[in-house]
Amino acid sequence: MDADLNIQLEEGNYYEKLANRIIQNFTRKGINACFANNIKQACSMVMKMIPEGAVVGTADSMTLLQVGVFSALRKRGKNEVLNPFVRDDDGKLVFSGDERQELMRRVLLSDVYIIGTNAVTMDGKLVNIDAHGNRVAPMIFGPRKVIVVVGANKIVKNVEEAITRIKGVCAPINAIRHGLKHHHPDFLELPCAKTGICVDCNHSWRICRYTTIIEGANPPRKDCFHVVIVGERLGL
Ligand code: SF4
Repeated sequence: MDADLNIQLEEGNYYEKLANRIIQNFTRKGINACFANNIKQACSMVMKMIPEGAVVGTADSMTLLQVGVFSALRKRGKNEVLNPFVRDDDGKLVFSGDERQELMRRVLLSDVYIIGTNAVTMDGKLVNIDAHGNRVAPMIFGPRKVIVVVGANKIVKNVEEAITRIKGVCAPINAIRHGLKHHHPDFLELPCAKTGICVDCNHSWRICRYTTIIEGANPPRKDCFHVVIVGERLGL
């Protein structure tokens, strides 16, 4: 049957059930969380959370590109966006190394920080592994508001499973992405990019240097931390 060629409907229904459990667990930890059926709904939710005039910081995130938040912000034209990882049509970074460093520092004090996450656990934790720390640091402290958007394909049972997934799937694919699409052949020299398997390397281009687990939001920051779980496959 043609209807069975596409299981998006069933997958979305399943994802929503998992998300509902995670949202309850986030709520217990003081983190605001909600479910969006699709990227269109997620984009609209995120845009409502970003006040006009707020300086919006971000880092490298495929999920946010897929959700279309940057296009929506550009269209609205009411927010300054600090994005150190803007790339041209050829995949090359627009800003120089020094310019990127400076933007990353400014992102730490942005009004609103929008970002994806490597994994979300069923008991309500956000797990990330970062190469430079610029992506994870503003999730923890600095910006007045943090909005995390995550595709339901990144739901895992627990922290252990999250780290296994990140080093076993996200990191190798991300390294290959930088090598093939972003003109950084050095990343293709990483063991995981060569074989698909993490060997806990000490390579100078290692992309797994900083591991963070967010287990809750400080009570004074209760209304400042938001997670949007999207019922679609997004990011890596
Ligand atoms: S530790 Fe090294 S081999 Fe393992 S995922 Fe990270 S970069 Fe790849």
